[in-house]
This record gives sequence, structure tokens and C-alpha cells, in this order.
Amino acid sequence: MTELAEAPGVGREESITRIPHWIGGERVEGASGRTGPVYNPATGVQSGAVALASVEEVDKAVRRAKEAFPAWRATSLAKRAELFFSIRELFHANRTELAKLLTAEHGKVLSDALGEVARGLEVIEFACGIPTLVKGDFSEQASTGVDVYSIRQPLGVVAGITPFNFPAMVPMWMWAPAVACGNCFVLKPSEKDPSASLLTAELLKEAGLPDGVFNVVHGDKVAVDALLEHPDVAAVSFVGSTPIARYIYETGTKGGKRVQALGGAKNHMIVLPDADVEMAADAAVSAGYGSAGERCMAVSVVVAVGDVADPLVGAIKARLPKVKVGDGMSPENEMGPLITREHRDKVASYLESGSAQGATLVTDGRETAPEGDGFFLGVSLLDNVSTEMDAYRDEIFGPVLSVVRAESYDEALALVNDNPYGNGVALFTRDGGAARQFQFDVQAGMVGINVHIPVPVAYYSFGGWKASLFGDSHAYGPESIHFYTRGKVVTSRWPDPATSSVDLGFPQTR
Ligand code: NAD
Repeated sequence: MTELAEAPGVGREESITRIPHWIGGERVEGASGRTGPVYNPATGVQSGAVALASVEEVDKAVRRAKEAFPAWRATSLAKRAELFFSIRELFHANRTELAKLLTAEHGKVLSDALGEVARGLEVIEFACGIPTLVKGDFSEQASTGVDVYSIRQPLGVVAGITPFNFPAMVPMWMWAPAVACGNCFVLKPSEKDPSASLLTAELLKEAGLPDGVFNVVHGDKVAVDALLEHPDVAAVSFVGSTPIARYIYETGTKGGKRVQALGGAKNHMIVLPDADVEMAADAAVSAGYGSAGERCMAVSVVVAVGDVADPLVGAIKARLPKVKVGDGMSPENEMGPLITREHRDKVASYLESGSAQGATLVTDGRETAPEGDGFFLGVSLLDNVSTEMDAYRDEIFGPVLSVVRAESYDEALALVNDNPYGNGVALFTRDGGAARQFQFDVQAGMVGINVHIPVPVAYYSFGGWKASLFGDSHAYGPESIHFYTRGKVVTSRWPDPATSSVDLGFPQTR
């Protein structure tokens, strides 16, 4: 890959690395005078200072993208597909380097970071099929001598605004289909772990993507608002928390943009009395504490139905002391730190409030967190949680698993359907009929049957219901092709001019 001369440093915390923008195919130092701190969450030491863009810097990126658009949209589908095969190979070859950047700034363990890159690569592989994906329909002889066909064309400049928890994969959900469809892209990644987006830009350039087709502006609300208000940004994809998703959707659509805004989650895992308890406990621990609970598809509530509750809580509790928490760079560790000190403290506060509001604190992660200045919290388990408690109502986004006990399937289902979020949900059972009924009844966008993290494969689309998604389109898969293109229908005929006459009647289709 291209030498990253001033690359975001992995293990170079003695010096703070400047993290610039990427505009028009090159690194561009921030000019706003504002920067944000980037930490190594495992040590608590600041490793970087990311440029925070001004309105003018965002405008520069959008202008470069707009300039690149005419040539890029005219690039043949065959050439775009060929380029995406090269992109796939380069990202695959550099997956460890990308994963190390994720671990260095996000904190997730390296094996998990490699998993993130692998799932993102699947979306790039999907985009390799762009010639088939944008195929239109053709109706010969729709009326006498008249043919009708549909085509899909790119929108122009589209923007992606992404969260801290998947700094490589979520941008891939957006830029891969958007660029393959012929759009030019401006990414505003999370300012908490921005370096993966720069390596992404380097790799795309090395693969041969023309300058200006992919740009990165770092920043905060100033940059986001500049994108939302920019007249040359045709569409915005957002993934992040629900209050910001709602804001992005409302502001962007008011400005006439196409917007998809994926929000937060509170994912339930229902365990029916006939489920295999050991398997369900493995699943709950894996989905509850993987990536320190900082996944939008993490299970944060286990709903134990009937008399499965005691054995299930016992089986989960028994597994917790074995979960190895520590620096994500060490291969023996299974769970890393949280993203910031403030977030760690907020997550820990739910243990306090949960106990005070009547839950049973079965395992207290404050007692098992590794020592030092890293943003660690150990795995934590709350039992007897009820729906009015803060630990149930809020998206905690940390390694805290709550158990709610329900008397029946109907009570468990009502719990999920009454929740304002509707991202993912899982059911554990051996009863196929119950599972089928559940899939019919449940109000959530992604359902797992004995699957704890039902993130769809890349050729389906990803998205929740209710407060987990604003807009009509889910991310990646077929819906992304629809989102990043607009339809045009052509009606054509090639008549003999000799047959031409004036006819003021409305055209008939016979
Ligand atoms: P966040 O909403 O704080 O930030 C997301 C993006 O919005 C970032 O780029 C950030 O810079 C920007 N932003 C933050 N505050 C803003 C403001 N006031 N105005 C304009 N822009 C602003 O989210 P986060 O903490 O980075 O990520 C965690 C959240 O993302 C969780 O709620 C999680 O559930 C959600 N998430 C959802 C999905 C999904 O697919 N539904 C996937 C991943 C993460």
C-alpha cells in the first residue's frame, strides 16, 4: 500500500499525530484552527489530534466531489466493476493494518476488528456486481412501435456521516455502493476514531479511484451541518444515535435531500423455556459483551421466559469470570475498553441506578476492570430488571447485560413491540412453530432465530424499524442501490415520418 508518511500512529503515543482531511485525492491539513483529541482507549493516552472542518473546508470537499462527478458517472460499468475487484484485493491485503488502526483508536480487540473489516469487505464484494445491480427493465412493443425501458442513474455528490463503533465497516456500507453506482462521496467519520477513513482513502487512491470521487472531512456538528445545508449534496446516509439520526433526517429532508438515518437500539434476546440453556447463555455472553457492548446489534436485554430464568442467569453468571478483558492488541484478550472515559463512567452509572431502582447486581464490572488509565469496565450483569428502570429504558452501549423475567411468550413479545427501538431481536427456542409466529409478530427490522447477532449478509439490506431508522431505505444490499440512484423511464419510437400527423388526444397505449 501507499506509504502513510504521517500515518495515524499505532503505538506512537509519545507524539500526538495530526490527522488531516482527504480532499481531491490528497491529505489536506485542517485550516479551521480547531482539533479534537483522539485517544488510545486501552491506555487513556491521547494519540492524535483530528482536524475539525470549517464550513469552507466542507465546501471545498463537496466542490472537488462535484468536479469529479461528470467523468466518474460516465465511467463504464465494466471499468467500475474492474476497479472494485482491485479495491477488494487491496482492502483484503491490508486488512490487518486496517484492523490495527481500529483497535488503536476504538479499543475493540484485534480479532473483533478483523471481523469488522471482513463484514465490510462483503459489501465491497457486493459492489463488484454493479453491472448487474443497476440493470433496468425493457418492454418491447409496449404499444405499437413503442418500446419502454427504465434506467437508474447516480445522484451526484452524496455524504456519509458515521459513528465511532464501526469506523471502517459502516463507511464501507455507504461509500462502496454509492461510488459503484457512479456517485462521488464525502465521508464525515466519527471524530473519536478517524484514522481508518484516511487509510481507506489511501487504499482507494492506490486501487485507481480517480481523485475527488472519495473525500474525507473530519469534524463535529459544524461539518455535519455544513453537509446538511450544502446545496450540492444530493443525499445523506447517517448511522449513529437516535436523537442525531432524527435531527439529520429532519434537517436533510427539509433541504430537499434524500436521507437515510439509522439510529440507536435496544436489542432483546428472548429465551423460551424449551431453549438449550447452555447455548443460549453462550449466545447472550457473546452478543452482550462482544466489542464491550458497543455494537448497535449487541444484545442488551435477555428476556427469560418462565422457568428458564434461574438456570439461564446461573449459566450466564458462570461464564463471566472467564471473559478476558484488556488491551485489544493482546491476542489473549476477548474484550477491550470503552471509547472514552466519559462514556465508561456513564455506562458504569447504570449499575448504580439499576441497583437503586431494584435490580439485582449479579456481576459488577467495576470490580473487575483492569487497572490503569484505560477506559475499562468489566462485564456486568443485572437481573430482575423492569421496564421503568433507566437500565432498561436507555441504550447503555456498554458491557452491561440486563435480564428481564417474563411469564409468557406473549409478555415477552409485548415487551419487544412496546420498545421504542426496533433494530435487532433474537429468539432462542427449539419450537419451529413458535419461531415462525415470532418472525410474523415481532416489530423489528432484523430477526435472529437461534442467531444472536442477526446482521444480514451483504446481499440483503441492514436496517431497523421505529426509532432505529428514519427514512425508507435500509443500508447496503439492494436497498442501497435504490437509495444511491434515481430512476428514469424512457418511452421511445422510431416511426416512418410519412405516417406522422397531428393528434391532440391523450396518447393511447394500444
Ligand atoms: P453519535 O450520534 O454521537 O455520532 C454519530 C455521528 O454524528 C458522528 O459522526 C458525530 O460526529 C455526529 N454528531 C454527533 N453529535 C452531533 C450533533 N449534535 N449534530 C450533528 N452531528 C453530530 O453516535 P456515536 O456515539 O458515534 O455512535 C453510537 C451510536 O450509533 C449508538 O446509538 C448506536 O446504536 C448507533 N449505531 C447504530 C447503528 C445502526 O445501524 N442502527 C450502527 C452503528 C451504531
